[in-house]
Amino acid sequence: MDTAKLGKRYRCYACDTLFYDLNKEAAICPKCQADQSNAPKPERKIQEVAEEASPDVEEIGDYEEDFTEKTKDKK
Ligand SMILES: [Zn+2]
Repeated sequence: MDTAKLGKRYRCYACDTLFYDLNKEAAICPKCQADQSNAPKPERKIQEVAEEASPDVEEIGDYEEDFTEKTKDKK
């Protein structure tokens, strides 16, 4: 199967449908018509989390277990 003809693969941010943009300019979800260019940027989210978490994790050390339990309770 020649996936190059299908273009870029996307997972719709709105409904999780996997689809290809078929090399069109706009990647529109075939299921819910969500424009993937409106999707929240996942890279930025990861960066924000990393910046927030990494300095504290090293400092707190033993406190980490307690923190995990508190996070579970929140769910
Ligand atoms: Zn969708």
